[in-house]
Amino acid sequence: MPTTCLFCRIAAREVPGKIVFESERVVAFEDIQPQAPTHVLLIPREHVAASTLDVTERTRALVGELVEIAARIARDRGFADAGYRLVFNTNAAAGQTVYHLHLHLLGGRSFGWPPG
Ligand code: AMP
Ligand code: ZN
Repeated sequence: MPTTCLFCRIAAREVPGKIVFESERVVAFEDIQPQAPTHVLLIPREHVAASTLDVTERTRALVGELVEIAARIARDRGFADAGYRLVFNTNAAAGQTVYHLHLHLLGGRSFGWPPG
């Protein structure tokens, strides 16, 4: 069955995306509507459904890997020391729109707190 999941389709290169990192388990690409000078989305290559609520023992290591790779991209892009933000929007109240687990890496500017 062909997948209808947008992020699965970007990872499979069926939908165009600006992929900036790929490994066996993780794909990272530029967000189409960047909210900061760097706005990269990091996803597991396999479809992990919905939200971080679905993180199980099986996918726990994968989430750690997303964070590790995001930190590496932040270092490579030169804003790790200045600071950056990692975000998992989880379900509707947080504004989640794509239900394939993903980590937002935002960097290259300052961020306020609380985030709104
Ligand atoms: P979320 O609100 O956490 O579900 O985030 C979904 C993100 O996916 C948003 O920041 C969108 O701008 C982004 N997005 C939607 N469609 C695409 C696309 N085709 N390529 C890259 N990013 C996308
Ligand atoms: Zn998917």
